[in-house]
Amino acid sequence: MPLMTSEQYVASLAKMKRNIWFQGKKIEDPINHPILIPSRKSLEETYDLALMPKHEDLMTATSQFTGHKINRFNHIYASKEDLNKKTKMQRLMGQRTGSCFQRCVMMDMANAFYPTTYEIDEKYGTKYFDNFKKFLIRCQDEDLIVAGALTDPKGSRGAKIGGDEQDKDLYVHVVERRPDGVVVNGAKCHLTGITNAHEVVVLPTQAMRPGQEDYAIAFHIPLDTPGITMIVGRQSCDTRKLEEGADIDLGNAAYGGIEALTIFDHVFVPNENIFLNGEVDFAGMLVELFAAGHRNSYGGCKSGVGDVVIGAAALIAQYNGTETASHIKDKLVEMTQLNEQLYGLGIASGAEAWQTKAGNYMVDLLLANVCKLNVTRYPYEIVRLMEDIAGGIMVTAPSEADLKSPEVGKYVEKYLVGCDVSAEDRLRCLRLCENLALGTAAVGYRTESMHGAGSPQAQKVMITRQGNFAMKKEIAKRIAGIRSANNG
Ligand code: SF4
Ligand code: FE
Repeated sequence: MPLMTSEQYVASLAKMKRNIWFQGKKIEDPINHPILIPSRKSLEETYDLALMPKHEDLMTATSQFTGHKINRFNHIYASKEDLNKKTKMQRLMGQRTGSCFQRCVMMDMANAFYPTTYEIDEKYGTKYFDNFKKFLIRCQDEDLIVAGALTDPKGSRGAKIGGDEQDKDLYVHVVERRPDGVVVNGAKCHLTGITNAHEVVVLPTQAMRPGQEDYAIAFHIPLDTPGITMIVGRQSCDTRKLEEGADIDLGNAAYGGIEALTIFDHVFVPNENIFLNGEVDFAGMLVELFAAGHRNSYGGCKSGVGDVVIGAAALIAQYNGTETASHIKDKLVEMTQLNEQLYGLGIASGAEAWQTKAGNYMVDLLLANVCKLNVTRYPYEIVRLMEDIAGGIMVTAPSEADLKSPEVGKYVEKYLVGCDVSAEDRLRCLRLCENLALGTAAVGYRTESMHGAGSPQAQKVMITRQGNFAMKKEIAKRIAGIRSANNG
């Protein structure tokens, strides 16, 4: 079933017995839990859009392995055109959901595992490329959602990985080796969309050194495997979702994103699920390629959500009767300029892609890192301008219950009325602004823009490596007429 309907997706999740916790309690019915539903609805959108003729070109691709039509989120990029469509698909999805839609991690991981496992096998004669391809084809043909697990809890960042200063489980590692597989222990932080995924792919958090072989481990595992526990992260205003009949106060009642701390407590991983096992010299390549792919992704998804932010700002300006003021127009233009710059580098890093030894196309590493570094700044400015336009009422307006109260509702209706618009619609727009700036979507727009796909310093490290300062010194020397060979 290369393309599932969203109903089939939900039915497939319902069959799994997963161990998910929220606020100290196990979630017995994850399908119907209000905290998890918006995240699943965002993911359902990836299925629904793939079946719409209007979006088919962006949302689907042809598998180079089977010739089947598959969801683009499970595709290996076969051309620069594929990468262009990837960015456009992510912008569309951001526009549709106004949140993180959570399915990109596997897409970016797959395109890093594909060339890395190929090169490991070439050097060591291992079978990881075959293992990975088999898994990927199953994901394509069964239209699975796979979460990605990169970031270890780490504890003290100064402590040596695997050293004796702190608990070794602060990094996922192999604790037992058996003829048929390995047993792993540890945890991974902020795993996007994991509570509504079928499987998870785990990879090392960073480059590894000789002596850290047990920590250089990568594999896939179904999320109902014994020993896996997911603890859902709190989000600002999240318990509004638990209020009876919650709607207006949520700002975005339909969609959302979710992250969870995920624990692997003596989880058995069969040999055929393993993609890296002790080859420390390849952990860095894997992380670097995944990071670049995901940093390119932010040019698509964040510009899509940025469109929602700009739309909400323009709408509230209309409702407030300030739409024609020149400073408001100027702010909307500035928001658009910043947003298109994010998109532009997403598109550019795909346009400058290169072909790996395995044959897939990898984004330009420098441009993808610059793209993400801009994402750590511009959404903050875009949101600041939206807050400026919306006014303080964005955070002081009465609740939906007050609006609907037989006693005080008439006051809310009377005093919150906008320019040719009801108090209810004005409130809906203000709550959307609040959600994007400070509520649950802030996780997917603001703070995720800072730390998702790596914090700013990680991009600066890569930009330092890719910036080619030696070449730039040479071109400067030539123009200045300097002939000495000293490069400092
Ligand atoms: Fe996709 Fe963006 Fe969410 Fe990453 S942050 S999973 S790229 S929507
Ligand atoms: Fe993310």
